[in-house]
Amino acid sequence: MGNVVLNLDMSKINEMKNYYAKQLLDKNIPGSIFAAKTPACMITAYKSGKVLFQGNGSESEAGKWGSSTGSVPSKTSSAAGKTKSTAKGDLPAGIGGMSAIGSDEVGTGDFFGPITVVAAYVRKEDIPLLKELGVRDSKDLNDEKIISIAKVIKDVIPFSLMTLKNEKYNQVQRSGMSQGKMKALLHNQAILNVLEKISPAKPEAILIDQFVQPSTYFQHLKGQKAIANKDVYFSTKAEGIHLAVAAASILARYAFIQYIDKLSETAGFKIPKGAGAQVDVAAAKLILSKGKESLPSFVKLHFANTEKAMAIVNKKRN
Ligand code: MG
Repeated sequence: MGNVVLNLDMSKINEMKNYYAKQLLDKNIPGSIFAAKTPACMITAYKSGKVLFQGNGSESEAGKWGSSTGSVPSKTSSAAGKTKSTAKGDLPAGIGGMSAIGSDEVGTGDFFGPITVVAAYVRKEDIPLLKELGVRDSKDLNDEKIISIAKVIKDVIPFSLMTLKNEKYNQVQRSGMSQGKMKALLHNQAILNVLEKISPAKPEAILIDQFVQPSTYFQHLKGQKAIANKDVYFSTKAEGIHLAVAAASILARYAFIQYIDKLSETAGFKIPKGAGAQVDVAAAKLILSKGKESLPSFVKLHFANTEKAMAIVNKKRN
C-alpha cells in the first residue's frame, strides 16, 4: 500500500470532483475540498491544492491526474501531529494552527556523523495533509518510517537543510565555539533561507525547538543577520506544538540517516548512532583499518568516546 501526493490547481481539482461524483464521500475532513472512495483507492483533495491518494491502486489512479511527488507506505494515524490550540508559556494562542516555520536539529549527541538542522514551512492549509502523511513527533517513528515520510514531504513543503560536517565541526569546536553557538547559527541560517524561499509570503510564527534560553540564543547571533526577536518563539518539545517542527525534525533525521549511511559505506561497515560503548568499538575498528587521521571526518573528536576508542586500539596493539 502506498500514498501518493499530487499538487494540482483548483480547476483540475474541480474536474476531479466531477469525475468522482458518484464516489464522493459524505465526510468532513478538515481542510479538504472533497473525499472520494474508488475500488482502487481513497482520494482526498485539500484546499492547499494537494491531493492525497491512499491505497493499493493509488499510483495508477494518481497517474490519471499528474505526476507524483513521491510515495510512502500507507498507515496514517489519527493521533498524528497533535497540534494543541492552547499554547504554553508565552507562545501565541492557537499557534498550532498557524502558518509557521519550525526548526529542529539532529546529531548533537551522536559521536559519529554531522549536525543536521532543518527549518521547514508549513502553511495552515497543509496541516491536515501532513497529518494524513503521518507527520508527528519523530521520536515516535523508526528510521524506516522517517525515510518514507521524508521522501514525500520534501516535495510538499519548503525547507532548508544545514549540514555541519565533521571536519568543519571539529575545526570550529577546536577554535572554541560551543555546540550551543553552532546550533544557534545553523538554526538562524536555515530559517533565513526558508524566509527567502517563501517570500513574499510570511509565516505567522517561527518556532524553534528550544535548546538554549532565548537570551543566550540571541547572544550567540550577535553580529549575524538574524530574525527579529519578537518574531521567534521557543519551546521545548515543540514537535508537539506545531507540525512544522515535527516535519523539520523528520527531515533533519532523514538527512542524518543518509549521512551515516554514506559514512558506513566509506568505513566498510555499519556505523552506529549515539555515544554508547558501541561507537567506541566502531571508532577503534576505523582507526585500526584507516588510521587515526581518518577520525576527524567521521566523528566529533571532543567527545570522550575518542579516548575510549584509543584505549581499545592500544589494548589490541599490545
Ligand atoms: Mg530538538
